[in-house]
Amino acid sequence: MTTLADPVPGGRPGDVERATALSGELAGRGVHGVVLAYVDTAGIARIKTVPTARLPAAAAWGVGMSPVFDTFLAHDTIVSTDVLGSPDGDLRLYPDLDQLVVLSAQPGWAWAPVDRITQEGERHPACGRTLLRRIVADAAERHGLSFRAAVEIEWAIGRDTPDGAFVPATTGPAYGATRQVDLSDYTADLLAACAAQGVDVDQLHPEYAAGQFELSVGALDPVAAADRSVLVRQTIRAVALRHGLRVSFAPAVLAQGVGNGGHLHLSAWRDGVNLHAGGAGRYGMTAEAESFTAGVLAHLPALTAVTAPSPASYLRLKPSRWAGVFTAWGRETREAALRVVTGTAGVRDQAANLEIKPVDLAANPYLALACLIDAGLDGLESAAALPGEITGDPARLAPAEAAARGVHRLPTSLEQAVAAFREDTRLRDALGPVLADAVIAVRRGESEAVAGLDDEQVAAAYRWTY
Ligand code: GLU
Ligand code: MG
Repeated sequence: MTTLADPVPGGRPGDVERATALSGELAGRGVHGVVLAYVDTAGIARIKTVPTARLPAAAAWGVGMSPVFDTFLAHDTIVSTDVLGSPDGDLRLYPDLDQLVVLSAQPGWAWAPVDRITQEGERHPACGRTLLRRIVADAAERHGLSFRAAVEIEWAIGRDTPDGAFVPATTGPAYGATRQVDLSDYTADLLAACAAQGVDVDQLHPEYAAGQFELSVGALDPVAAADRSVLVRQTIRAVALRHGLRVSFAPAVLAQGVGNGGHLHLSAWRDGVNLHAGGAGRYGMTAEAESFTAGVLAHLPALTAVTAPSPASYLRLKPSRWAGVFTAWGRETREAALRVVTGTAGVRDQAANLEIKPVDLAANPYLALACLIDAGLDGLESAAALPGEITGDPARLAPAEAAARGVHRLPTSLEQAVAAFREDTRLRDALGPVLADAVIAVRRGESEAVAGLDDEQVAAAYRWTY
């Protein structure tokens, strides 16, 4: 479980003692430095590092970093809002010692996610991780709810090329055995690294697109799940590098065809009971789980500004590619934006969950989970009615029937997504004005950065960024 307490100057009770013991232990294991990681508004993982001996000082007082990164674009241009984007100010990055791991594929290094706190010891209003922690804590307090979440990771594995073109490191059929054979050493090393880091991998398999693989992990509390998705991507990249391979988590490695998703699995629980199973609603959902699902469904157009934040996201979000681009839900329906996963008879009380598909790995996972949980809570609090399910591909529905069923296409561009986000006061309030403005400014900046580029150029621009 992630601790629900914010860091404080001087360290949370026990943290400094723990960091002192840890730094000795890490040094004994040959760890020279600790990577302190967070994700910015644009979805880029950014870091500072400290020598292992400085870990106690970092636990006590944090490590300095400018808040300017909250308005960085994916390619490091800086935009600004009323509050953010200036060269002034400093934040303290506090490592979460509960989540510290020794990086198996980067000998000499450990890794920890951070919360970003002001020099005054207050929450930084643009810190996605503290925001998610607060939303989870509020849901526990107000509704007695907790959540479990997992991020699926899809990526393309390429050869290093001088011009940045994508040359898949393996060919062969989707889900094909040949791909597993071709990349046998790489994937075995990846599984070993995950195991050594305490990451419980559910599955690893070749996916549909050229050179594409997918790795799924077990569910955790939302903050830990977001941390894990950052850690797993760092690991996938580090292992690939040791094999002379290059990886891309970009939503669209190529302009055409199937992209890389970052589907999110989410379930709400009360007193250890999964609300998505054993209920009197459809497919075992409780009334609260149905309303939670309805809440997510209703906010999906605005959510895409957070879950699909890159111009390249909209190259992926196309019908009939399992990316879930219609406002609809269905049981195990891979073309609906929301897939109700019931799990197998016998384990449903543990396995049932809601899968949200229009999410990619350009998204900041902390912000995506914060917004999705808040959207679900909006439905739950208002006892929102879940409309009828769909089966099959909504792209095949006649326009009149789709409209009658409330099945609409999600935004087809980042500009459309931002327009929907601007209209969604609930989501903007969930993020708070500082972060909501940062999301709008960064997305606008990202759109402007690619103005005039064609699809191929957009794909190329972000191919190796995420
Ligand atoms: N690659 C698909 C996407 O972009 C998802 C495939 C799957 O369902 O695993 O979302
Ligand atoms: Mg997949």
